[in-house]
Amino acid sequence: MAKRMSTFKQAVQLIEQADTCLVVAHLNPDGDTLGSALALYHGLYLLRKHTVRLLCHDPVPEIYRFLPGSTAVETEQQPITVYDLALVCDMSQLNRAGRHEPLIRAARRIVQIDHHMPQEVFADVRLVDQSAAATAEIAYRLLRALRVPFTPEIATCLLTGIVTDTFSFKFPNTTPRTLRIAAHLQSCGASISEINEQVFETRSFSAVKLLGLALSTLKRTEDGRIAWAIIPRSAFEEAGASEEETEGIVNFVRSIHGVQVAMLLRESPNRKIRVSLRSRGAINVALIAQQFGGGGHENAAGCTLEMSLSEAEHALLHEVQKWMACSTSTNPSA
Ligand code: 5GP
Ligand code: MN
Repeated sequence: MAKRMSTFKQAVQLIEQADTCLVVAHLNPDGDTLGSALALYHGLYLLRKHTVRLLCHDPVPEIYRFLPGSTAVETEQQPITVYDLALVCDMSQLNRAGRHEPLIRAARRIVQIDHHMPQEVFADVRLVDQSAAATAEIAYRLLRALRVPFTPEIATCLLTGIVTDTFSFKFPNTTPRTLRIAAHLQSCGASISEINEQVFETRSFSAVKLLGLALSTLKRTEDGRIAWAIIPRSAFEEAGASEEETEGIVNFVRSIHGVQVAMLLRESPNRKIRVSLRSRGAINVALIAQQFGGGGHENAAGCTLEMSLSEAEHALLHEVQKWMACSTSTNPSA
């Protein structure tokens, strides 16, 4: 029996055959989706594709505008045209592409490059590896398979994805492979210290003000295992801050001694409640987020709730407590 072609080979073949391509990052973009999409965008340019569009529902947040090529990101809805190929980065559900979802669905072929817990099957070729610390690790392997030269621009984009999703190599998703890839990218001209400086050490005045307002709402359960903060619309207004400036706040909540699940609830302009969930140890917050139509990773996930802030607070707390009770009863050593 003929050996099945590896998914990377299948993806390479589709890319080699394509003339017109879309590269798509997810809404509320983070460093990984943008770094991966931009690296692939640069790669397709080097492969001399006729047309390459780089799409994201939301504009590139200020802290990621240093990424080479970030001005190429288009947010407006495009007329439906049949592209040969769509490369979809860091998404386990196609609704994470926001207004660009119909254009992706119309493409002749879809390749998914992702490291989330699988949810929806929407791609012809699925480069999905949950053991990858970042989607950028998988984009790196794909670009190697395509024999694209690792320019400093490509290396910087990929390394930013890795640095942001590992929280500078501090999260347990960091593996020896992650470090080997990071070392190679650094040798190709990317700089870990510069990326850290741009992403983690440079904040706007309004973002720090918002952090203060968010932390002033901090609460925890009596046993100290669940802690959360909320950001009502009024706090965004008082700080003069936008949604993108909430990035990283949940990590302060997670860092509290004894906390196993941390939550950040924020009220969007459309009054929906965006939620970030983080956990330490065995509590799988992706499964909790999925109860509310969201998703993510075992230790980092998110969802959107259509209810008031206080209703969302109660609903989430109830669900998290339920999962915690469950994980305690099924794990006698806990
Ligand atoms: P964050 O809290 O930083 O927005 O997201 C944490 C992780 O969960 C990221 O990997 C992000 O892609 C994923 N995530 C956040 N919100 C959603 C959602 O609504 N749906 C899905 N499928 N994943 C989400
Ligand atoms: Mn990611």
